[in-house]
Amino acid sequence: MDYSRLGLKCGIEIHQQLSGKKLFCSCPAKINDSEPDLLVKRKLHAVIGETGTVDTAAAQEEARNRSFIYQAYRDCTCLIELDEEPPKPINSDALHTALLVAKMLHAKPVDEIQVMRKTVIDGSNTTGFQRTALVAMNGYIDISEGRISIPTISIEEEAAKIVDRKGDSDVYNLSRLGIPLIEIGTGPDLKTPEGVKEACEKLGLILRSTERVMRGIGTIRQDVNVSIEGGARIEIKGAQDLRMIPSLVENEALRQKSLLDIRTGLKRFNIEDRIHNVTQVFRDTQAKIIKRSESVFATRLPGFHGFLGKELIPGRRLGTEFSDYAKVAAGVGGIFHSDELPNYGITEKETEEVRRALKCRPDDAFVIVADSKEKSAKALEAVIRRAKMVFDGVPQEVRKANPDGTSSFMRPIPGEARMYPETDVMPIRPRSDDIELPELIEEKARRYSENFKLSKDLAMSIARSGKGRMLELFINEFKAIKPAFIAETIFSIPISLKKEYGVEWDIREDHFETLFSHLNSGALPKESIVQAMADIIKGRFDISSYQADSSELEKDIREIIARNKDSSFAAIMGEVMKKYRGRISGKIVSEAIRKCI
Ligand SMILES: [Zn+2]
Repeated sequence: MDYSRLGLKCGIEIHQQLSGKKLFCSCPAKINDSEPDLLVKRKLHAVIGETGTVDTAAAQEEARNRSFIYQAYRDCTCLIELDEEPPKPINSDALHTALLVAKMLHAKPVDEIQVMRKTVIDGSNTTGFQRTALVAMNGYIDISEGRISIPTISIEEEAAKIVDRKGDSDVYNLSRLGIPLIEIGTGPDLKTPEGVKEACEKLGLILRSTERVMRGIGTIRQDVNVSIEGGARIEIKGAQDLRMIPSLVENEALRQKSLLDIRTGLKRFNIEDRIHNVTQVFRDTQAKIIKRSESVFATRLPGFHGFLGKELIPGRRLGTEFSDYAKVAAGVGGIFHSDELPNYGITEKETEEVRRALKCRPDDAFVIVADSKEKSAKALEAVIRRAKMVFDGVPQEVRKANPDGTSSFMRPIPGEARMYPETDVMPIRPRSDDIELPELIEEKARRYSENFKLSKDLAMSIARSGKGRMLELFINEFKAIKPAFIAETIFSIPISLKKEYGVEWDIREDHFETLFSHLNSGALPKESIVQAMADIIKGRFDISSYQADSSELEKDIREIIARNKDSSFAAIMGEVMKKYRGRISGKIVSEAIRKCI
């Protein structure tokens, strides 16, 4: 595709979780996925915003009349996440990091930081709003395409994590709620899919240079705004994998172009808001999904014959878009449309009968939904709403990124009415004059490689991992250990532990400190570090168990030699090492064997 001819315009919004404490309470920024200590059930209601109107997205959520179940934890949630206590003043470390990032992006801090409430009633916040504050404005980054403006840098609280969507009562985990997030928004200056990816990468590296960000899947999220000439600004949420970004953008540009082509090709008829009960048509049906449902409803879409089956992008048709709307609005499993029938066990005869019942002309299409009367009606109303939008071309939407680079409808673009001031938090005058810029990741890697004699790859991995500060600390503290060994251990031990025990371990700085102090004194053999680290984390480390009693060792060696009379030195060595499982260094074992032979 020729993106400049299409008039492609993209912007990104990056959300990065910060480590440390939460934004408005003292709970640790830590996601706990274990069994909750407490469950709380709530309902949320839309309220009017500052401008006196109710946000459409919020109103749509409230209409779904759902309950929410919140999982709370003693170690990382408190009454503030449950909205039973007002927020504390904003976390000054997190604010400092946001100002630091602003400075790195050449942005100007605002005179006064005012925390705002942004209405969100999908259940992901117990309050019904998300706290957010603008920190700085008018920054930029330079990429190969040129200068990309960064109009806003904000700090906000992370939402609760969805655990289970049950339709009527969604389950959310509260441990994530309130973790500080830095939000960086660029202007719509990006012109190619690759440019979008490059900007995301560059901003990601800048954020990581602060060494104050959380690490791992889901700790950084990119939302991409995409529009083409004549299309609409579409916000695609939750791209977690940078490699997917170019195809997300390409697919969205193509989707908008296809929707514009359909608008041109479609004759305009009046779409009636009529829903018909066609349950009778399917009284003897063999179609499994329909057989299970109590009723079947249908609506006629005049002039749409042949258009619902049109592919917008490979694998997704106009009918898929209609289906997304029905799913979101009514929680139904999906829709059937006439361009895909007969199929799915629905016969030619049944298809014809529906056409007759709806008085379809040859040019008309229809959509059917098999569910309860109430849900089917909601679903078909959404389909009719979406069908009418076809004549506008591209409806403004928030879409969610799918893992295959496509996206699906999530909700309408929220209006301006959803912000109002947070009156429980005092405004702050930011001070950023004394903020020192951190060393960039590339510079740091170069310094590690030169000063500590690390390979370039290892130096870069450590610099990117945010463990650089710890590395430098330990290299200073433990002079008897080679810097490269410290670096290698910090980097590789989580991987070795996972390989050995099959689970992720939460390794803290003090765990490393204990390990290196025993290595530094020579008390712990290098071969034992994986086993020793496991013991340290479990809190049952005992250095004496790593120091073999020499008479005990000799006794074991003699026994092994006696059992393996004709074996080589190496084979005996192997047997002894197996028995001691890395608890003694190879050097000590080989010396002891030599003594015994
Ligand atoms: Zn808390």
